[in-house]
Amino acid sequence: MHSIWESASFHRRPQLAVVGGGIVGLFSALFYKRRHPGHHVQVLERGPHPSGASVKNAGFACFGSPSELLSDMAHEGLEAALARVEERWRGLQELRAELGDEHIGFEASGGHEIYRKDDALYPRVAEGFDRLNADLRSIFGMDAFHWDDGAIARFGLGGVEHMIRTQLEGPIDTGRMMIALLRKAVESGVAVRPRSAVVAVEDAADGVRLAMLDGTAIEADRVLVCTNGYTGSLLPQLDVVPARGQVLLTAPIPGLALRGTFHLDEGFYYFRDCKGGVLLGGGRNLDIAGETTTAEGVTDGIQHALEDLLHEIILPGRSFTIAQRWSGIMAFGSESKSPIVERASDRIGVAVRLGGMGVAIGIRVARRAVDMMG
Ligand SMILES: Cc1cc2nc3c(=O)[nH]c(=O)nc-3n(C[C@H](O)[C@H](O)[C@H](O)COP(=O)(O)OP(=O)(O)OC[C@H]3O[C@@H](n4cnc5c(N)ncnc54)[C@H](O)[C@@H]3O)c2cc1C
Repeated sequence: MHSIWESASFHRRPQLAVVGGGIVGLFSALFYKRRHPGHHVQVLERGPHPSGASVKNAGFACFGSPSELLSDMAHEGLEAALARVEERWRGLQELRAELGDEHIGFEASGGHEIYRKDDALYPRVAEGFDRLNADLRSIFGMDAFHWDDGAIARFGLGGVEHMIRTQLEGPIDTGRMMIALLRKAVESGVAVRPRSAVVAVEDAADGVRLAMLDGTAIEADRVLVCTNGYTGSLLPQLDVVPARGQVLLTAPIPGLALRGTFHLDEGFYYFRDCKGGVLLGGGRNLDIAGETTTAEGVTDGIQHALEDLLHEIILPGRSFTIAQRWSGIMAFGSESKSPIVERASDRIGVAVRLGGMGVAIGIRVARRAVDMMG
């Protein structure tokens, strides 16, 4: 039994309901509201706050390491690979302009790819290095990458022979970024409903019916599904493969010299300085089948591999303790690396499958989704 005030203010039928309050869902809701200020826009988020990859990630504001970009160019062709880099780069610029560097904690401390002794990647990257910089000049107007072997010792890294640096990347504070985005969406008039898990999305006679986990239902004129790695339970026909990523963070390390973001082994491992310690993630390649899941959790095998990397490469000869471990769920395609932004029906849109680059492309995917919803 709702009062008239509840019905009119809290249970208004939304013109647009967005399922999922991650970076894509919140930016989509914000941009749609800006375009349609009179419309009621509601974000339905299953967690007590945004609870997906957007609050679990490593906070790399990056556009791709040299080995990844060279591999993409070889497999997909130059044009497609450059288009993806440009999309990431424009996304990062738009994210920083929209929320402000101060609010997202962006640090211009640089991005790096490191190569161990006898690393099979190194000769490939060294051979393609000049061509890569030349190809990327159309996007960056400068050489994006530089060899920086001299800084390896300064960062305290062990067993690393070569390092490439770009000054165009850096870390952000993911939590602050999401709070800034959430605040902006709410201030623009978007209604965000936490603890609102949707279990089914169905076309109805004059709109879309959302069945909720608590047994109630919500009717909306139109719905945009932004559930990324969790999309399979709502729209199983889409090619969205969940992929868990595990992370650990050390306690603060006195005198830590490491600064910036770092990629290793074709991006299968990534680390950065964070809150005075080292944040390290990756190792999914050690158990692809086991990590193809939407279940949160960490496993001994992958966590041990991450700790071995700390001992051997990142903090050689230093003692450290692990302060925190967590996981997050990404979404990949079985064939494609591109996001899905499409209509599932006239009234239901989908914007999912952000891969490992949602910080960079999330805002651009949201803009495309809003264009699609009209
Ligand atoms: C460990 C890890 C490290 C990463 N590191 C980086 C990085 O350094 N840089 C980078 O660019 N990208 C990184 N990523 C990828 C990036 O975080 C994602 O691409 C991006 O956050 C995806 O945003 P999203 O809004 O599409 O999805 P999500 O953030 O997952 O949002 C989906 C939302 O939907 C909600 N939801 C799901 N199902 C339902 C339902 N049925 N009803 C209601 N709500 C629902 C979830 O709770 C969640 O809040 C990383 C990801 C992980 C997991």
